[in-house]
Amino acid sequence: MSHILVIGSLNADLVVRAPRFPGPGETISGEDLQVIPGGKGANQAVAAARLGSKVSMLGRVGQDNFGDFLLDNLRSNQVDSQLVKRAEASTGTAIIVVDSNGQNSIVLSPGANGKVSDADVDAAAFLHRDLLLLQLEIPLPTVLTAAQRAKENNVQLILNPAPAQKLSDELIAVTDFIIPNESELSLLTGMDTKDIHAAEGAAQALLDRGAKNVIVTLGEKGALIVNRQQATHVDAFKVDVVDTTAAGDAFIGGFATALLQNKSLEDSVRYGCACGALATTKFGAQPSLPTKEAVENFLSQFPNP
Ligand code: ADP
Repeated sequence: MSHILVIGSLNADLVVRAPRFPGPGETISGEDLQVIPGGKGANQAVAAARLGSKVSMLGRVGQDNFGDFLLDNLRSNQVDSQLVKRAEASTGTAIIVVDSNGQNSIVLSPGANGKVSDADVDAAAFLHRDLLLLQLEIPLPTVLTAAQRAKENNVQLILNPAPAQKLSDELIAVTDFIIPNESELSLLTGMDTKDIHAAEGAAQALLDRGAKNVIVTLGEKGALIVNRQQATHVDAFKVDVVDTTAAGDAFIGGFATALLQNKSLEDSVRYGCACGALATTKFGAQPSLPTKEAVENFLSQFPNP
């Protein structure tokens, strides 16, 4: 079976629902604390594993209880955690307040994620791996090193440029697939992405900077595939949305899984869209990531276009 390596972040999400956000200096009461495994790296690793992919995660957690919790969570989702080391730092944490309108306010403490270094990304990690998934919640120099190592080892590379930031052409050019959402694409290119036509123009600008395939996720508008041969729009699936958190992570786990099963580019994007849509029908990040069976059942309700 094909094997995915994820090099990225692991966070403990500490979530409290409250009637509203507290003002400066104010204390308000909220509901019971929920501690939920998160971090874009870990979310994408779990997303792919739930869909039946063989997945290893490389990253860092602290020598604390949250670190134990995140490692246990990877194992219980069948993600190989041998390459997750402990750091002399606290485990990455997101302090999240959700108000009565469902809006959230987040303080992110990267902690151990900030300690993932070039030295962690040794060549052995790439042995017998077919695809590398990267995001931007670990230090950028480490992301570039990992991307270059993937290239040297003939491992396909998917980069999810999130959270949004500007990137060098050097990094963009080593990717096989770069998968931003509309706002990430806008920040990456300095261009408008307000509709599908504008997003296509911005994706073309990434091709000019050396990208091979750009896949723009467009929320309820689906996704756009742009490369030198085509610009193809894939529709979203209509679902009753509860919470869109982790739709992008579900999409990426699904896309990578389908690609490694030798599905066509368009079919892989459609599979990713099904995973993203299903993730919006449940609350939370990792709890909402669908299983292979759930996606197959969902897709069987739609005729293949
Ligand atoms: P992110 O979570 O990174 O912002 P998107 O919101 O673009 O990413 O969502 C990723 C994918 O999930 C989309 O390409 C789409 O296929 C699916 N998706 C997201 N929101 C919805 C929605 N409201 N209805 C149906 N599908 C959705």
